[in-house]
Amino acid sequence: MQELSITEKLAEISRYIYKKGLSPGKSGNISIRSNEIVAITPTDVSLRDIDPDRVILVDFEGNVLMGNEKPSSEIFLHINVYKCRDDINGIVHSHSPYATSFALSGEVIKRLDEFGKRGRPHFKMIKYAPPGSQNLAELAAESLKKEDVVILKGHGVVTTSASIDDAVVLAEIVEETAKVQFLARLLNKDVKN
Ligand SMILES: [Zn+2]
Repeated sequence: MQELSITEKLAEISRYIYKKGLSPGKSGNISIRSNEIVAITPTDVSLRDIDPDRVILVDFEGNVLMGNEKPSSEIFLHINVYKCRDDINGIVHSHSPYATSFALSGEVIKRLDEFGKRGRPHFKMIKYAPPGSQNLAELAAESLKKEDVVILKGHGVVTTSASIDDAVVLAEIVEETAKVQFLARLLNKDVKN
């Protein structure tokens, strides 16, 4: 089977993320890096509607190399991570409902056992900075030097991995973890973080 191009792959993953409910409405953005070129979703478009023609290619300065629309407003968050992490090739920024509820409340999401060996009891949450700001891009990239997941306080989630497929799996796991933690609270008010 022929391998998908990065624009085809990004479009496929965008629609998958939308279908899974990880990025409702026009929220969220994702990218794939190939050397020093980044394929990223456009701003102000539902991930449901991304096809390969709508994917934007940018360089590490944020210049548009291909595409008719404006790249995601979180473009520098993505680029800053790729600049610091040679081993990262895929990033998902989602507003999945359960994880985002934790982000809005400021309460941390406990890592389940499958994440337990990575040394942290919960996913790191970074302090609030406005969406699309340079401040957010810098704060998130700084934390992602040592983390594969960060929760953006008051906003959403960023997951990173060596491949976009694995970054998507992480986004799903974070959402599932937040959901389970939330539901456990309802069943047993003594279940704490
Ligand atoms: Zn966002």
